Amino acid sequence: MANPHHPVCRLCRREGVKLFLKGEKCVTKCTLDRRNMTPPGQHGMARRRKVSDYGIQLRAKQRARRLYGVLETQFRHYFEKAERSQGVTGTVLLQNLERRLDNVVYRLGFAASRPEARQLVSHRHFSVNGRTVNIPSYQVRPGDVVAVREKSRKAQPIDNAQALIQGRPVPDWLILDADALKGTVQRLPERTEMDAIIDEQLIVEFYSR
Ligand code: SF4
Repeated sequence: MANPHHPVCRLCRREGVKLFLKGEKCVTKCTLDRRNMTPPGQHGMARRRKVSDYGIQLRAKQRARRLYGVLETQFRHYFEKAERSQGVTGTVLLQNLERRLDNVVYRLGFAASRPEARQLVSHRHFSVNGRTVNIPSYQVRPGDVVAVREKSRKAQPIDNAQALIQGRPVPDWLILDADALKGTVQRLPERTEMDAIIDEQLIVEFYSR
């Protein structure tokens, strides 16, 4: 059973939702499925009090940041980039987070969690359009082909991932070729295809204070 005191499990308790940071255990053995989620720490229960607007906005931002595994400064850069874009700031922010290479590897089912995907990318197991990319934050574009590198096809983490591919739904904005161990970015994701646990409007409000 996943340990609820494990550092990453504490993040889920803090945010009050499952962030799926430990892969298959999150589906099969997550203790949060069986217990009321209270904030971590000795005074977790005592902390239940009226939360200010700022507190709500902060939690929304932290939840998204932790879900995608992005550091504070980097997350602000994502927001500023989205703000400069022509589209709706909150939607563009989420699209740019979804376009991260580690997220695409996770979405395609080549890794059990985003943290695992980040490690696999860093260890040079993936290519984009035939070129090795080891930068987890690399932004994919429509038309890009993300593939497991030829020499990594027999690597143990990739073998494990192949088993995980079975049965996990892949969002419509990506096309998976499971036999060839590659996926194509068909288009940018729509809002309905991204995580419902994130309230991007609250994030916009947080940075607009
Ligand atoms: Fe831990 Fe995963 Fe459950 Fe989160 S979802 S508490 S990381 S087992």
